[in-house]
Formats: sequence, structure tokens, C-alpha cells
Amino acid sequence: MSNPSPAIVAAHPIEGLRAASAIAEALAQKLVAERYGLSVTAHRLNSERDQNFRLRARDGRDYVLKIANPAEDPAVTNLQTEALLHLAEADPALPIPRVFTAANGAHELAIRFDDGSTRVVRLLSFLAGAPMHTIEASTLLRRDLGQCAARLARGLRDFRHPGAKHRLLWDLQHAAELRRLIDAVPVNRRRLVEHFLDGFEANVLPALKGLSKQPVHNDLNPHNIVVDPGNSERIAGIIDFGDLTCTARVNDLAIAAAYQVADSDDPLAPACELIAAYHAVSPLEPAEFAVLFDLIATRMVMTVVVSSWRAIRHPENRDYILRNNDAAWARLNRIARLSRGQAMQQIERAGNSGTRQMSADDRAISTPDMIARRNRLLGPAYRLFYDEPVHFVRGEGVWLYDAAGHPYLDAYNNVACVGHCHPHVVQAIARQAAVLNTHTRYLDETVLDYAEKLLATFPAEIGHVMFTCTGSEANDLALRVARTCTGGTGFIATKTAYHGVTSALVELSPSLGLPAAKDSHVRLVPAPRPAGEDTGEIFARHVRDALDDMTHNEIRPAGLLVDTIFSSDGVFADPVGFLRPAVEAVRAAGGLFIADEVQPGFGRTGEAMWGFARHGLIPDLVTMGKPMGNGHPVAGMAARPDLLAEFGARSRYFNTFGGNAVSAAAGIAVLEVIASEGLIENARRTGAYLLESLGQLQARHELIAEVRGVGLFVGVELKRGGIAGTPATSESAAIVNMLRLRGVLISAAGPHGNVLKIRPPLVFTTDHADLLVEKLDQALLALPQAGLAAAR
Ligand code: PMP
Repeated sequence: MSNPSPAIVAAHPIEGLRAASAIAEALAQKLVAERYGLSVTAHRLNSERDQNFRLRARDGRDYVLKIANPAEDPAVTNLQTEALLHLAEADPALPIPRVFTAANGAHELAIRFDDGSTRVVRLLSFLAGAPMHTIEASTLLRRDLGQCAARLARGLRDFRHPGAKHRLLWDLQHAAELRRLIDAVPVNRRRLVEHFLDGFEANVLPALKGLSKQPVHNDLNPHNIVVDPGNSERIAGIIDFGDLTCTARVNDLAIAAAYQVADSDDPLAPACELIAAYHAVSPLEPAEFAVLFDLIATRMVMTVVVSSWRAIRHPENRDYILRNNDAAWARLNRIARLSRGQAMQQIERAGNSGTRQMSADDRAISTPDMIARRNRLLGPAYRLFYDEPVHFVRGEGVWLYDAAGHPYLDAYNNVACVGHCHPHVVQAIARQAAVLNTHTRYLDETVLDYAEKLLATFPAEIGHVMFTCTGSEANDLALRVARTCTGGTGFIATKTAYHGVTSALVELSPSLGLPAAKDSHVRLVPAPRPAGEDTGEIFARHVRDALDDMTHNEIRPAGLLVDTIFSSDGVFADPVGFLRPAVEAVRAAGGLFIADEVQPGFGRTGEAMWGFARHGLIPDLVTMGKPMGNGHPVAGMAARPDLLAEFGARSRYFNTFGGNAVSAAAGIAVLEVIASEGLIENARRTGAYLLESLGQLQARHELIAEVRGVGLFVGVELKRGGIAGTPATSESAAIVNMLRLRGVLISAAGPHGNVLKIRPPLVFTTDHADLLVEKLDQALLALPQAGLAAAR
């Protein structure tokens, strides 16, 4: 029997690598403690090439420690590490292992062991779930795999690395080399192998040059696919990037599809489901469709030939090596009975109808059936965003993903302030939920720890915090405290304010567009604009007029309630300190200043934790919510202790869910992430960059009358005819919808709905800002009038 060329043998997982001495679990633990600062217990995992350990940390988190074989080329190890890092950036929601940094900041460590070997060590996240080969795969699971494979290929498209060109036996483009191993195949099966290798040489080899090349995973076999333990129709992990190489892109899909060929009368049907899903996300070129069947067959041949060859070299392991071979031969026999032309047609038809099917499925789930179902179940009071509502199924960082796997840049969500589904917050919630979750009528340390940490972010004058579940409840409580402590009933808010859903707050939320009650004790004042030297004075004058009107109607003032960034009024941050004269006027009339920090709070302004800091004021009461639990419903009211002394003497407070231990754990985790990831500073830096980029865009689009805001809270006012012109309300709605269709999420605010409201998670980067501005530019140009203006 002839052997393959040495270069190829060396690249084979087993044959080329000398045995490396085993590393004890205790040594792995010691290494992780010393180099990563993690206390773990380690369990060895089976692996052919490397030494891998599953680690469990004290906090219950699992990791994988990979210690590369000493004979592994460091350039290849580094290729895998860099590919994982690149993918995590390119498609953050793709379920692949994350690479953790060691204490010295490196993603890879070269460590010298006692046996004299130097090995590359990496710490990865452990992706929990069942390997796909242990699961009876459903259509939906195969589709998900197809989508993940397409996203993975898309994510690696522009990945460059010097190690990516290494030569592998398992690279389909070298499949002709398999002929040298054919003696290892039982005589009665050789014809089948030759048949498909002939097909490879006749159909694929001549086409290879014309196929798109890029780095690919190159081993999407079911042993490397992890299925979500809670949902057997979802892929939870793609692992083992050990065969990653630069080759024809379609090879990756052929490999994944080869393992979905069935031993049935319609053997390609399940593979076609995967191909269709791949094609819907990352369309195949005609040249790729033309070779796909040959490549699928070639991969199947490759698997049986290499295992037959290895069984001969390792007779002691023969049964294990050949354990899947009979089934593989049976599947090969099945596809051998298909005519090549018919098989190609079946694949192409499936691909094309799959695109239609996937889009139809997406529409069928989200619109109109889903809308009808929603209306039937939730009733007519709810509103959906966008002319074409979106159905999201997953979120990560600044990205949301719809049912078809398309990513959307979330530039609107201030609830997910530290990024969608931030693992630190998710784990904090899960951990506490698994231990204890009770209310504030029992003693509980978690809520006290949270209160302590939260109060530390306020000026010393604010000494207590009370917990609620929503911003509305917090504001409602603030109204009660203000009424109790002042003896007044009159409140002042702005003309397009929003403060919540309770009956009391609806009156203070004119943006809802409801008529005010005749005998209302609420007075509405115009929002503080335009920004200029006398903004504060003008605003104070309106507030004084409102106070006079109260006096005139024998209403005693209780307080001024304002969102300190005036978000629903249209985003007003400037000039710094403009709220002071109005607050002084209210206090002089016996009322309190309630700062609604539901929108600007938790670092969004990029200057401080709280929006009121920009005004150089210390509020009497502060309400907060939305970002507080990164999506977990937790909100609260912070207050001067003397006010709560009076309120507490006359009133009692209990909230079944507000301030429960799980909410407190979520709140602590959010504060930790804001600090550890430097998100206030990021909001400042990225916000300044975004404002500047939008300013440049303004120079090119007449419709942009003003760009304003602070940190990651930005308003872009659209008007026809400049700042003194008419509000471009319909254009604003069109822009919001056009951006949604281009995969960017924003909304509009202000009395005329003509202020684009941009308020992304605080993990937004300058790259994201660039993408947002680019899409906004495109959308503005796509407006008929704007196109003309730009052409003039
Ligand atoms: N205040 C402001 C300024 C808000 O924007 C909101 C919510 N949009 C609320 C209060 C009410 O918060 P929630 O929806 O949590 O009740």
C-alpha cells in the first residue's frame, strides 16, 4: 500500500504527532489558578490531538482548558485562536467558544512543562449541550445548523492569517490524493470510491479555480456541533476549529451536508434542508451549486477511506475506528444510485425553494399571522414598532437577530444598557434564582448589598433607596412622597413628557396624547429649547407661570417632575446647568424636585452616573428604572432621608416583587459591568464620536436641522427649511422604517415625531456608530426630496 505524501501525513491528527506525556488534572488546576486567577476543578476530556480539560469554577461557570500537543505548529494554534476572536467580533451571537485572556492579558500562553515540552495553552468557554450525533436531528435543527454554518463562513470571509494556508489531508480540494490510500479499502468497495473520485476529478478539480476561497471551519461534523440542552431544535455550539483552513468556501457546506445524508430512499432530503438554510443566509453562487453534490460524495468517501487506512495502521483499535463505517458505506451506496444530474437538480431546487420557504416562514411567523395572534391575545391597546414589525429571537451585545438570522444593530435600546443578554448579568440572575428569591419583608443581604452599592453612586444627601419593579411605580411612589411631605397636590411636567402608566402618571405623560382632566392639578410647560444662554431662564419663566397658575387656582405645589435628558420631548441636554433656575423656583414655592432618571441614568450621558449631575443639582427624589437590571424588571426611588422619615411616619410601603433578591443580584451585576467595562467612559467617547459624525452628515443633508445630545443619548431633528422650518414628521417616520429595513434600529421623538432618537446600549463602539451613520446617510439619500437636494 502506498502512503500519502509526507506533508499531508504530518497534517493528519494522529499520525504525525508524537505522543506527548499526559498532564495531570491537578496540574491543569494549578496552571489555571496561577495563570488565569481562577479556582477550578478539572476533568480530562477525550481528545486525539490536544489535552483538553473541562473546568468548573467556584461560581459554577464551566470552561475548557486546551493544552496543545507540543508538536502542533504554533502558527496553526494561533490561527484557531485568532479565528475565534475574529468571529466573536464579526458575529457576536454566533455560538462558538469564547477565548479568555490570562492574567497577563494574553489569549495564548506558551508554557514549558516538566517533560521539557513547550505547549500552547488556551482557556475557552464551555458550550453546554448534547453533541449533535447523539440527537435525532429535526428539520429545524438542520436549518439552524445551515444558518449557523452560513454565518460562520460569512464571519470568516475577511479573516486573514499566515497560518491559514497549511495543507491538510482533510481539505476537500486535495481529495484526489485519496487514491493513494485506496488499497486500504476492502476490494468489493473500491469501485464505489473510484466512482466518486472520478466524479471529483472530472467535475470539481477543473472548477476549483473559479470557486470563492476563504478560511472555513472545515469539519462541521455532528461531533463538533452542540445542541441546546433546553431546545433540541437549536444549535448551542460549533466547536473544534482544529481543521480550520483556507479553501473553497463551498467545501465547508459540503462537509456539513455530507453528515446529513440519510440511509433512505431520498438520501439527500435532510442534507437539502441544511443547504437551503445556508443558501438563504449566505447565497451560493451557481459555480458552487454545480459542484456541491460531488463534494458531498467526496467528503463521504474521504471519511471511509481515511478510517479504513487508519484501521490498518492501528489494528488494536480497528473496531473503534471503523465503528461508523458500515452506516457510512450504506449512505454512500444510496447516493451512488442517484443520477448526478438529478441530485444536482434536487440540491439547487431545494436551495432556491428554501430561500422562498425561509422568507415565507419568517413572514408567516412574524407577519401577518403573528400580528393577528398578538391582537387576538393581547388586545388592541398595544402598538408595534415599524411599518414592517420585526420578530427577534435572540440578542447579544448591540445586536438583535430576527427569525431568519439577520442581525440588526440596536441603536435604540437603553434597557439592555450593558448589552443584550450580558453573560455576567444573566449568570447573576440565574445563580440567585437557583438559590433564593423572596421579598423585602424578610432580611436579605443581597438587597442590602445592592442598596449600598447603588447609594454610593449618589451625592451624600441622597441616603435611602426604595425598590419597585417599573419606572412608573417609582414615579408614582415619588408623587406620593412629594404629596405627603409638601402637603401639596400640584405637579409640573413638560409638554411632551412621559413618566409612566399609572393613573396619576398618565396626567403627567402628555406624550400619550390623552386629554387632560378639567380639574387636573398638573401643569405642563414647554420643553427647554432652543439651547442658548437664556434657556434656563426661559424654562424657569414657564415654571413660574405654572406655579402662579396653581396659586391662582388654590393648588398647592408638590413638585416638578422632569426627565433630566427630556427624551420624549426631543432630547435636550444643553446648555449645562439649565435646570437650576426652574428648580429654585419650585423649591421657593414649597415644591420638590423629582429627577426622573429612567432614561439618562446609569451612565448614559457619559459624564456621570446620573443625568441631574449635568445640571449641578441635587434632587429631592430620584427615580430610576429601565437600564437598572439590563432587562430584568427592577426600578427604584432614591430620596433624602428626612423626606422618607416623614413619609415613613405617615405611610407604609411594600412591594411584592420590588427589591427581591434576584432583582438585586441583577442590579449589582449591572453596576459591576458598568464599572469593569468602563461604560461611562465609553458612552462619553463613542457619544462624542457619534455626535461629530452626525454633524458631518448634517453638512451633507439639508433635512438635518440639528444634532444634539450628550453621551449615548442623541437626537437628530429633521426639518424642512432649516432649524426655523417645518418639522419633517413623515420623513422621520420614513427614515426610521428605512433604517429598520437596512438592519438598524432607532425611533423618533418630540412633539412632532421629527427627532430621530438614538440611544444604543452603552457597549456601542465607534464601528457601530460608523455603521449607523452610513445607513442613515443611505436612508436620507433614498428619500425622494433628499436625493434631489444632495444632487443640487
Ligand atoms: N420615566 C421615563 C422618563 C420613561 O421614559 C419611562 C418609560 N419609557 C418611565 C418613566 C416609565 O418606566 P416603566 O415603563 O418602567 O414603567
